[in-house]
Amino acid sequence: MTITGELLIGNRTRMGQNGTLTAIEAATGQALEGVFGGASAADLDAAAQLAWQAFPAYRDTALENRAAFLEKAAENILSIGELLIERAMAESGLPRPRLEGERMRTVTQLRLFAGVVREGAFQDLRFDAADAARTPPKPDLRLRKVGLGPVAVFGASNFPLAFSVAGGDTASALAAGCPVIVKAHPAHPGTSELVARALQQAVIDCGMPEGTFSMLHDSGHEIGGALVAHPLIRAVGFTGSRRGGLALVDIAAKRRIPIPVYAEMSAINPVLLFPEALKARGGKIGGAFAASLTLGAGQFCTNPGLVLAVEGEGLEAFKAGAVEALKALPAQTMLTAGIGQAYREGIAKLVGHSDVTQLAEGQEGDDRRGQAALFETTAASFMKDKSLHDEVFGAAGLIVKCRDLAEVEAVIDDLEGQLTVALHIDEGDHKTAARLMPKLEMLAGRLLVNGFGTGVEVSPAMVHGGPYPATSDVRSTSVGTMAIDRFLRPVAYQDMPADLLPEGLRDRD
Ligand code: NAP
Repeated sequence: MTITGELLIGNRTRMGQNGTLTAIEAATGQALEGVFGGASAADLDAAAQLAWQAFPAYRDTALENRAAFLEKAAENILSIGELLIERAMAESGLPRPRLEGERMRTVTQLRLFAGVVREGAFQDLRFDAADAARTPPKPDLRLRKVGLGPVAVFGASNFPLAFSVAGGDTASALAAGCPVIVKAHPAHPGTSELVARALQQAVIDCGMPEGTFSMLHDSGHEIGGALVAHPLIRAVGFTGSRRGGLALVDIAAKRRIPIPVYAEMSAINPVLLFPEALKARGGKIGGAFAASLTLGAGQFCTNPGLVLAVEGEGLEAFKAGAVEALKALPAQTMLTAGIGQAYREGIAKLVGHSDVTQLAEGQEGDDRRGQAALFETTAASFMKDKSLHDEVFGAAGLIVKCRDLAEVEAVIDDLEGQLTVALHIDEGDHKTAARLMPKLEMLAGRLLVNGFGTGVEVSPAMVHGGPYPATSDVRSTSVGTMAIDRFLRPVAYQDMPADLLPEGLRDRD
């Protein structure tokens, strides 16, 4: 498979003529092979028309065939082989083991959704029997969920495989019976093309309608915005910045027919250290925290950016453990120059803040490699200055030192919505933790004990979502099988003759 820089519109390819993009090697800033053509409004319209035409046939595919298509997509991605890993390493700067793991996660995700489709429970079939003897008579009601229509997916910069072209949003939308148009992330256009070609081939191999999948490059913001505004698009999946996510939410809300945008945006994922756990193993927790904070150069939406604890010996031990571990850590390549620049600006703001003390820094970085950093402030300062609540995307952590548990609770009350909250507790902390649970449930989509939120299992009981600004829609998850619900809507059929009912809703003899 070769990288041509073309757009994939239905089963065809063509070189975009609306500006160009160049792939950049994350580690060096050098241009990589290939020039990518930006899509025009006509290209976007062609992809949207094809998706719209494909929709009725695609959403009516036999579940077995749809499942087999998702499995074929997984197989085709694996068969790209080494080329995919090498290209993703070059474009993202992420190391081989991480990308091999991410490829497996992408493939597993597609296979998991194939299982969901085959099993069929996602349709949520319901049957309410008629009762003519009741006053008033009760109608015969049956319900199923159907796909929303063509979905626009914006690939994420920080997961070039598992949250990009064939990532969680695409897999769940295709599983729901929705055609997908991906707006490739400009940080990894070559990786995007390789995966998109594997998906396009799966459409052809499995005889799915043309338009089930397309991928566009955008040389600016014009086509991304126009994609969300296009009247034939019915939902959007996005992972990225708060600014980008909100811009798309705004465009969607202003359409003649507004559509849902499932945007996963920013979180600082508080880590709560409880007194007994700190007393027993503060230093050890500090070391584990440093490892989680710096995983993937800290470029995870679940990165533990905030630590809350009551001051005292236990917290000092935690700090010593974290500082020791951080000092030794080399700077790591950031995904893009822009993300690196935003990280350095975030660090500079904390360094220059009069109420913030820097506790540690990792080994020195440069304009492409981020240096880990750990800071401390007081609860009073944190609650006073809301800019301290902002996500610094990268390996930066802020410890908020509280006078007592009441102050920890006050800080929790002051926080914005989060993806995760991690509790470090021992047996003796359970009573205090239990008191906080109702507040924590309101704060985040996932609560976890004695671990960190980095590492998101793809499974039926996973929630990767949370109140704003973690996501734009608190009712959903973008990881795990429940993600399919975002792209479905219920339809009820009342007193419908059998020959008008969808097959799955007919009486079974
Ligand atoms: P981003 O700037 O939000 O971009 C994400 C995608 O949306 C890109 O394809 C981007 O295209 C597009 N986009 C952004 N604004 C748009 C607009 N107004 N109209 C149309 N399309 C738009 O995110 P990023 O490039 O991945 O990283 C930037 C920052 O996002 C990071 O520093 C970090 O703070 C945050 N981030 C958060 C997460 C998370 O998981 N929460 C993940 C990644 C990044 P262009 O690139 O062409 O603008």
